[in-house]
Amino acid sequence: MKTGLQKILEKYGNDKTRLMDILIDVQSENGFISREVTIQIAEELGMSEVDVDQTISFYHFFSQKPTGKYQIYLNNSAVAYMMGRAEVAAAFMKELGIRFNEVTPDGLVGLFETSCIGMNDQEPAAIINNRIFTRLTPFRAKEIVRDIKEGKSVDDMFVQDYGDGENRSDLIKSVVSNNIRKIGPILERNYKYGQAVEKIIGISPEQVIEEVKKSNIRGRGGAGFPTGLKWEFCRNATGEKKYIFCNADEGEPGTFKDRVILTERPRLLFEGMVVAGYAVGATEGILYIRHEYKYLQQYLESILQGARDTNYLGKNILGKKGFNFEIRIQFGAGAYVCGEESALIESAEGKRGEPRDRPPFPVEKGYRDMPTVVNNVETLCAVVKVVLMGGEWYKSFGTTESTGTKVLSISGDCKFPGVYEVAWGFSIDDILDMVGARKEDVQAVQVGGPSGAIIAPNEFNRILGYEDLATGGSLIIIGNNRDILTQIVLNFAEFFIDESCGSCSTCRIVPTLLRNKLVKILNARGVEQDIEDMIEWGKILRASRCGLGQTAANPILSSIKNFRYLYEEKIQKNKVFDNGFDLVMAVKESCKVTGRVPNI
Ligand code: SF4
Repeated sequence: MKTGLQKILEKYGNDKTRLMDILIDVQSENGFISREVTIQIAEELGMSEVDVDQTISFYHFFSQKPTGKYQIYLNNSAVAYMMGRAEVAAAFMKELGIRFNEVTPDGLVGLFETSCIGMNDQEPAAIINNRIFTRLTPFRAKEIVRDIKEGKSVDDMFVQDYGDGENRSDLIKSVVSNNIRKIGPILERNYKYGQAVEKIIGISPEQVIEEVKKSNIRGRGGAGFPTGLKWEFCRNATGEKKYIFCNADEGEPGTFKDRVILTERPRLLFEGMVVAGYAVGATEGILYIRHEYKYLQQYLESILQGARDTNYLGKNILGKKGFNFEIRIQFGAGAYVCGEESALIESAEGKRGEPRDRPPFPVEKGYRDMPTVVNNVETLCAVVKVVLMGGEWYKSFGTTESTGTKVLSISGDCKFPGVYEVAWGFSIDDILDMVGARKEDVQAVQVGGPSGAIIAPNEFNRILGYEDLATGGSLIIIGNNRDILTQIVLNFAEFFIDESCGSCSTCRIVPTLLRNKLVKILNARGVEQDIEDMIEWGKILRASRCGLGQTAANPILSSIKNFRYLYEEKIQKNKVFDNGFDLVMAVKESCKVTGRVPNI
């Protein structure tokens, strides 16, 4: 009789590069990954225990201690707080009688914090046993705890509602609304699945690449590398096998457009992967998707099966001899850094998601050391339309540097948060009008998430595009009633500390020093020199290995640049030095821990 673990290992062919899948299944089945199981996995896969441990300890959703029969992960993003997260957190703690990072004594419920779960348009939100609960209130938290105590399954705890009356599939169990507020030429509804694949089999892979190059489309993940060029590099690279990765690990707080595309236009995305596979000569595609979207798994698998059944995937696609392409889904396990393409590849190989040194770039040496293209969800959707309508057509949208359209995730203080597809060149002013936010009520807009910039009203005439404000598409609108430094900048600073992979000393240390300086200023103990120190220390971070470290100082640097008066209002004007140490506070804190009565 096979044990549960043996069945899981067998499901993945005892392949150590599928360690992520193995650990995800064990975590989901047992609620944690015990020492004994870790040893068994290491033995069965021919790995060292340390290697298995390293992967387990890297990801937020793996745990080596029991996490409860029900695991509640409450999002702690800045927008969640703006929408009432603190009250919801207090209600969960009160009803459960535990604090965060604790499990109830009966082992029933574990309560945890988690970074942005891609639901900024419907916060506060939580993941409970891989199901998403949105628009939480203290009352709803109480109801959820009551249902848990009554033994209800998570699927019985909510009424399914997509917010638009449409029922896409009973395979998605969620209350998530997919707020597509503006549809453009990429997300339009008349798209017919398969037309691009039917078209490309009549032309050569080189012609497909030429058309994509003609469109000037650049990667939509934020870095903006020309897609056609990337495909050409990969096509020309040598390797026994080539791979197409779709990066659906959108972890930038404030971004949720990929979630909406994955739910509303999954066929468009999969067709884009097939087109990319044909163009570069790849035979396997991997959709790397963040763990937070696990609730979409069954639904996406059913779409893939439909493509196999109709020969849009598989061998000799649509009768074209030698055109073979398969797609599999790879889930992450909670690590923002895996949005970086080489970290994502490491993760898909079952390892810690640490960025690789480059060169070589993935197009030469990527997944399993083979030539690999990594494209964003939105890029792959757009290339389908490029193939169908032509590169010139695509160039008729947007600006010279930024052709086509951009799908934006907009949240925060506005009437209509959601997903908007607009042509590049749209200004922030236009966006505020579009989403129902009055300019006079808005004190700032965070463009591009924490790694982007926070801009003030005097810059609202700036446009979205590589020539001005390049962005992966997240915009958070910050109303006049918000405390920018406490509610936004501090939250983002802590996010980067949590998410650093720890490889570079700069990124491991400097974000904490910056956060401590910020806290010192917020506690009214800062001096002018502290602001200057933060500017200088922020520059050191630019020497970090990957984009995470290189941009980790941006929340502080861009807020000092555009909102310096907020810092100056809080510092001590009559002092040039203050070490920030508060003896009275320190004694009180220590007494809290030791239980002694302060004597000062
Ligand atoms: Fe890791 Fe940060 Fe270095 Fe990137 S910059 S490799 S996240 S330590």
